[in-house]
Amino acid sequence: MQLRSRRFVRILSAAAVTMLGGHSMLSDAHAQSQGVWIDVHFHLVADKGDLESFDEAANMALRTMDAENIRTIVIMSPPRPKENFDIESIEAVAKKYAPRIVMFGGGGSLNPMLQEAGHAPQVTEEMRRRFEETAQRIIASGAKGFGEIAAHHVSLSPSHGYESVPADHPLLLLLADIAARNDMPIDLHFDPVPDDVERPSDLSSPQIPGVFKENIGGLERLLAHNRKTTIVWAHAGGDPVGFFTPKLAREMLERHANLFFSIRPTLNRNDPMVPPRGPINKEWIAVLRDFRDRFVIGSDTFVVPNRYTGPEAPRIFASRAEVQMRGIRRLLSHLPADLARKVGYENAERIYRLNR
Ligand SMILES: [Zn+2]
Repeated sequence: MQLRSRRFVRILSAAAVTMLGGHSMLSDAHAQSQGVWIDVHFHLVADKGDLESFDEAANMALRTMDAENIRTIVIMSPPRPKENFDIESIEAVAKKYAPRIVMFGGGGSLNPMLQEAGHAPQVTEEMRRRFEETAQRIIASGAKGFGEIAAHHVSLSPSHGYESVPADHPLLLLLADIAARNDMPIDLHFDPVPDDVERPSDLSSPQIPGVFKENIGGLERLLAHNRKTTIVWAHAGGDPVGFFTPKLAREMLERHANLFFSIRPTLNRNDPMVPPRGPINKEWIAVLRDFRDRFVIGSDTFVVPNRYTGPEAPRIFASRAEVQMRGIRRLLSHLPADLARKVGYENAERIYRLNR
């Protein structure tokens, strides 16, 4: 298993280099012509409690930020199926490197509670109480929002979890109310499924069920539950499953004024916003133009220091960061200057209250 996943990393890294088409990232002419931007979806991954490694990861991230003109990053734990590191591991880093590094909480604490409750026959008062207490600790820690929280998270490799709970699960409705009261956005991972369908044949991870259930109704109910809750739906434009289309994004934006999207533009499948090669997706750009206040950029970069000993998935994702950064530079260069400013940083400053 270990050997197999290491080989997988090598294959993916080779693919990443191929996709760069031989251009060095830093020599990309567009990089210089493009202004600063804010990255709202960034993962520093180290072993729980290894604060030195988290600090090392933060320094690796700062070097990437300098190279890529990123003014601020929002760091958060990935949406974990089981309890893992959360604010207690990244709080010190967020304080030390403020205001360039901002923290969200819940991916390694609230999300595991949510996933466990998703399998439980009922949500008890005790579960609600623990969930709310944890959310209060996150607020007290100075986190700017909650994330990464998953309602549907498709597994892409054996060490990458499959997670599924209804988006209108009672604990998510509870989180929506807490988030609204405290003016904190929720970063939501939600692989959409418009109808019950057999799982796409190219998704082969053994954890994925044979049939995906329709789940968009639940998200609509979550959004309608509290209109003061800001939901930032992550990974627009780079969809591993195949149903996260510009048409769906447009329909959801029309219906839900409290919905926003963070863009992860590049993927090598399913008509991404910015393909590794070839033209930028016009249909996505039209949605960005029509809903110019509703999009931010979230590269989904994973930074993993050498000492990390956990599962391989974060290293696999870390190897893709260069391709994603190139896609973001291409996207921002392609947009008219005023729209590039909005999507690049103005919307993020407003939605994430970064100037307060
Ligand atoms: Zn995600």
